[in-house]
Amino acid sequence: MVKLAEWQGKSVFRKYGVPLPRGEVARSADEAESLVRSGKVPLPCVVKAQVLAGGRGKGGAVRFANTPEEARAAAAAILALEFKGEKVREVLLEEKLPIGRELYLSVTLDRTQRLPILIASTHGGVEIESVADTEIDRQAVDPFPGLTSYEKRRVAKLFGLSGAPARSLDKLLDAVWQVFQREDAELVEINPLATVGEGLVALDAKVIIEDDAAFRHPEYAEVRDDRTELEEIAREKEIAFVQLDGNIGVIANGAGLTMATLDVLKELGGAPGVFLDLGGTDDPKKVTEAFLLMARARPASVFLNIFGGVTRCDTVATGLVEAMRQVPASERFPLIARIRGNNEKEGIEILRSAGVTSVSDLRASAQAAVDAARGRP
Ligand code: GDP
Ligand code: MN
Repeated sequence: MVKLAEWQGKSVFRKYGVPLPRGEVARSADEAESLVRSGKVPLPCVVKAQVLAGGRGKGGAVRFANTPEEARAAAAAILALEFKGEKVREVLLEEKLPIGRELYLSVTLDRTQRLPILIASTHGGVEIESVADTEIDRQAVDPFPGLTSYEKRRVAKLFGLSGAPARSLDKLLDAVWQVFQREDAELVEINPLATVGEGLVALDAKVIIEDDAAFRHPEYAEVRDDRTELEEIAREKEIAFVQLDGNIGVIANGAGLTMATLDVLKELGGAPGVFLDLGGTDDPKKVTEAFLLMARARPASVFLNIFGGVTRCDTVATGLVEAMRQVPASERFPLIARIRGNNEKEGIEILRSAGVTSVSDLRASAQAAVDAARGRP
C-alpha cells in the first residue's frame, strides 16, 4: 500500500482540479515562518502535521495561527511531536478558510460487490467509522461509464446543494473519480469537504495507491510509508513480515495458518509481536533469511507453525538450523516448533539434531511459546 501524506494527496488533487486551500510544506519552524512572512501562505493559517495517522485535529497536530510568530510556534510544537508513534518531519501550512459545513466524500473499492463505491455523508470532519451507518450514503459505481449524473445528483441532494454549488460539486466529483481511476487508487477520501461560501474545498486528502499498480506509477516509488525498518528490509527480500506490539515471534506458512496461529496465541494469553509467512517457499536459504530477520526483531520466544505442502518440512527445518547457527548466543530465544505434513519425519529429525523438539499438538505447542515468552521483554 502506498499511502500518500496529505500534502502529496493534495498535489495529486491539484492536478485534477479538486479545489484546495492555498498551502505550502515546511520542514522547520524557520521555513514555516518565512512562508507566512513572504505571503506564500496567507494569514490566518492552519498548521498541520504530515503524518499518515488520522485524528490529527483531536490530537493537537492541527493548529491555527494569526501571526508569523504564531505560525512559527505552531510549526515548532508540531514538528517536536511524535504522533501515534510517527515522528513529524513536515508540516503543511494553509490559509485558514471560513468554513461552513463539514462534509464527507470518498471513493474506494467494495471488495464484496467487486465495484468502486462512492461514499458520502453530511457528517464530515470526524472519522467515518464513528458515523452512524444510516448517515452514510453508498453508491456502487460501474467503472466503465464511470460516475453518472444520476449518482452525482444523489450526492448533491444529500448535501442539500443546488444551482452553482451543485455545479461545483459535479465538477469536483468528476475530478475525484478521475484521481481514483487514473492514479489506480484504492482510496480517495476528502474529510472534511468543507463548504466555503458558495463553493466546496477539500480541507484534507487521503489517497492510497493500489500496491499492485505501483509499477504503473514510478512517481510514487519514493513515497515514504508506515513500514518499519525491518518490514522495509523484508519487503526488499520479498518476505511477508509484519511487526505488531507483542513479544512472541510467529513463523507460519500461508495467510490462513498464520492468522490462526496468531489467534491461538492470543487466546492463550500471549501477545504476538512479529509474524512471518513463509508462503510456499521451497528454498532453505529463504527460510534462513526470514528467520534471521525474525531474530533481529528480538522476540521473547518464537513459535514456528508449519504445515508442509508445497513447503516441505525438511526444507524449513534445514533453513532454520542454518539460521540458528548464525544467531549469536547472546541473541538467542526459545524456539517452539510444530511442523507437520510433507516430509514431517525428516524435518523433525533435522530439528532434533539442533536441539529443537517439535510438539505436534497445536494448543500444547502454542502454550509452550506463551510460557517461554512470559516475563521476558
Ligand atoms: P484529521 O483530524 O487528521 O483528519 O485532520 P483534518 O485535516 O481533517 O483537520 C481536522 C479539522 O481541522 C477539520 O475537521 C476542521 O474542523 C479543522 N480545519 C482544518 N483546516 C481548516 C481551515 O482551513 N479552516 C477551519 N476553520 N478549520 C479547519
Ligand atoms: Mn481529516
